[in-house]
Amino acid sequence: VPGVLEVITGPMFSGKSEELIRRLKRARIARQRVSCFKPDIDLRYHRTAIASHSEQTHEAAVVTPNAERLREELFATRLVDRVEVIGLDEVQFFDNAILPLAMELVSMGKRVILAGLDTTFANEPFGPVPALMALADKVTKLNAVCMTCGQPAIHTQRLGHSQELVVVGAAGMYEARCRAHFQPYVEES
Ligand code: ADP
Repeated sequence: VPGVLEVITGPMFSGKSEELIRRLKRARIARQRVSCFKPDIDLRYHRTAIASHSEQTHEAAVVTPNAERLREELFATRLVDRVEVIGLDEVQFFDNAILPLAMELVSMGKRVILAGLDTTFANEPFGPVPALMALADKVTKLNAVCMTCGQPAIHTQRLGHSQELVVVGAAGMYEARCRAHFQPYVEES
């Protein structure tokens, strides 16, 4: 039985985690065995769960955002033999080796559901996500609400002047913005 690759993407606050949690909960209602992961970069709400900004949660194992390590976690423990559905949040933080891993799991018949940002706050494609979208059976691109005008938002606006590439969870550091109100963050030189 072939598996399936599903990608849930969009800017921050677009409901990616909510949608991932929704799909995982429904899979469990269908009595499928589910395993969920998130990178250890994002520990803002929970250490053992993925959480949406609307405070929904689903149990998750925290892993280093390294595809080889995730592979070990799945195969060395034989966890992969015990689950039908594998969820992964914040997939943009993983390296490109997540692509062959995702395809390997799909070829084993797994339903693989990946959620992550499609673009950075500089409006560049984010890590492996664009390639994963290309390889997916199903791509769900969600919009947030623009915090300036209320229109559908496809961008993540970085507020302030932080120079770090990955700043997670700092409240008030990001806003969803539409095309008209987004100003890509550019580093001061
Ligand atoms: P993501 O994983 O895409 O960052 P979440 O699933 O964590 O999104 O959060 C989505 C929730 O965030 C929404 O259901 C809503 O309650 C809340 N939210 C806060 N700000 C916004 C916004 N600007 N647009 C849409 N939802 C927002």
